[in-house]
Amino acid sequence: MYILLVEDGNGQSEIAAVFLLFKETEVTVTYDGHFKKNNSNWGLVRVIMGDKDLNERQVLAQSFPSAQLLICTFRSFRREIAIEKMGITTGQRCMCLELAYSTSEEKYDELYSRLCSCAPSSVIEYFNKNWHPIRREWVMGMKYNTGNFLNSTNNRLESLNAKLKSVISRYSSLEEFCDKFFLVLRVLRNERDRKAALVSQKVPVLYHCPDDENVDKYVDYLTPYAYKYVEKQMALSDKVKLIPPSTSNPVNNTYSIDSSEGLIEVSTASCGCLFWKSMRLPCRHIFMVRKLVDTNLFEESLCDQRWSLAYYKQNQRIYVDGDDNSPRSDDSPQSDDSPQMVHISEMRVPKKKIRSQVYMYYLIVIILL
Ligand SMILES: [Zn+2]
Repeated sequence: MYILLVEDGNGQSEIAAVFLLFKETEVTVTYDGHFKKNNSNWGLVRVIMGDKDLNERQVLAQSFPSAQLLICTFRSFRREIAIEKMGITTGQRCMCLELAYSTSEEKYDELYSRLCSCAPSSVIEYFNKNWHPIRREWVMGMKYNTGNFLNSTNNRLESLNAKLKSVISRYSSLEEFCDKFFLVLRVLRNERDRKAALVSQKVPVLYHCPDDENVDKYVDYLTPYAYKYVEKQMALSDKVKLIPPSTSNPVNNTYSIDSSEGLIEVSTASCGCLFWKSMRLPCRHIFMVRKLVDTNLFEESLCDQRWSLAYYKQNQRIYVDGDDNSPRSDDSPQSDDSPQMVHISEMRVPKKKIRSQVYMYYLIVIILL
């Protein structure tokens, strides 16, 4: 069984496709035929995360030529680089793991040179054969450049796998498997729909800068999940320190910052840090520079469209009217047992800022169809 899992604009996981195949040779046909036929936006897939030993890795690369393949750091790299298995010392293993967490290609090159100078030739040979040529797929700094939304592992899929295993027995018949699989799928989607409904029902608690109008604008523009990241970055912007002014270049509003990731260049519209590249949301450094040049902290173009509330509601099934947009009818062969579809429309009451952990609810109208 193959599962394609995606992350939506509210940080929720959604099963995009499930394939049950007799032979792995059918994978190509499945991706190029069924999946692309039913997902017209397949060409927009930008990042695919999987295990290193995934058999269809090359198939994915061919079927999604515009996507960057990434390797789960935890399940692949950490597991493979073992002291007994490779005959290396603890220090050499630490050095290998440090490579995986390099924040840039330059840091990787530096650590790689150190490894080559002290590791046994067998280890270097193994490393050069299996990992060095595909470093862009597993080194953190290079992975984050792809815009992977800070996902560095297969943990989302592992979590789903654990839920499936808790319900479906190992030796189930195909009929039993299908019944239970669709049951789990229905429960998971109900839970995701509930969280989608909360997007309209809850007013987020503003822990930082509650009186700043820029905060209000980000709250209104972003999904709650994306806003939490921005709020944290906004709060951290006060702690960012420029390196001595003599090396800054205020003419084009580009500044140099000595961060934990090394020296990075930042302007009012872009940054060299991993958060900005990975999340495609404004980082602490951009906020700091915008404060410095007295520019509004809010700017739509700093946020990837996928994080906007409007985009989320245009694409999330409970906010979309019409049966054509409801995948529920196709979820399960047990249509008689399917839960009722819930659509949500909303009527906003004037917003009040609150600082406690208690949420204020909007007046909403829920229509059970
Ligand atoms: Zn930054």
